[in-house]
Amino acid sequence: MLGCQQDKLPCPYRCDDGDELGKKVLIIGLDRCRTDAFQLANTPVMDSLAAAGHLYTSVNRGPHTVSAPGWTALLTGVWSDKHGVTDNSYSNADFGSYPDLFSRLKERFPCKRMYYVNSHPIVSKGMLGAADNGEVTGNDAEAASDAIQQIKMCRPDVMFIHLNDIDHEGHDTDFDPQNQRYIAQIEDCDRQIGEILAAFKNTFPTQEHLVFINTDHGGEGGGHANQDNNPNVTHVFMIGSSNLGQAWKDTLAEQVDLYPSVLQFFDVTIDSSWALDGKSLLQ
Ligand SMILES: [Zn+2]
Repeated sequence: MLGCQQDKLPCPYRCDDGDELGKKVLIIGLDRCRTDAFQLANTPVMDSLAAAGHLYTSVNRGPHTVSAPGWTALLTGVWSDKHGVTDNSYSNADFGSYPDLFSRLKERFPCKRMYYVNSHPIVSKGMLGAADNGEVTGNDAEAASDAIQQIKMCRPDVMFIHLNDIDHEGHDTDFDPQNQRYIAQIEDCDRQIGEILAAFKNTFPTQEHLVFINTDHGGEGGGHANQDNNPNVTHVFMIGSSNLGQAWKDTLAEQVDLYPSVLQFFDVTIDSSWALDGKSLLQ
């Protein structure tokens, strides 16, 4: 069930005018999508996003090649020696010292509406607790459908969507660009991203958008765990795009770079005491 049925949620906080910035951030995470498979697949939606922005093809996702450390690096802007997540349990996480993106933004912008929809609980069982609402669905089709409803009805300022079916397909068959079922699943995700983006653009026709497409790790054969030395697992792709033709740094990106990029987009001054490991990719 969706948690927001209103056109606009009542705001429980005292807000100043600066909190009503017309900027929107959409982050779509595809679990376990290999770069070479993505490049081989027919993905017109992601390709056009990349053409309008930037495609980073060799993004270091850091050590401990299971899902949670990758998503945590992405959403905290620091590596596992700081955030503490080295497996999928989150048992040693230090989100007090290194708050996730939603928590950090809520401190600065308590009135911004933040939502997530995940088709697997791997991200939200450890993070995104500051969200105004979150959904975990059973598959990507449901996640995409719920995400579209939340975009239209809840008008999020920041939204994170996790799609997991590519990961399922890779485990069931193989994480291999020659595996047609794996490629077909990536293409299916591209269609779903197209539907989500259409809803996003129609709902926010005049606002400034920042869109990211990410993945948490690649794969090799039937798996990906304990492969810290395998570039098909440790290096992933990232797309950054904006409807205003934002200039992107042509640099070697890392998973930890999304966090400071989003902060810069919202004009948040980064405090050195936060000890972030990433750098903004926006020029
Ligand atoms: Zn994963």
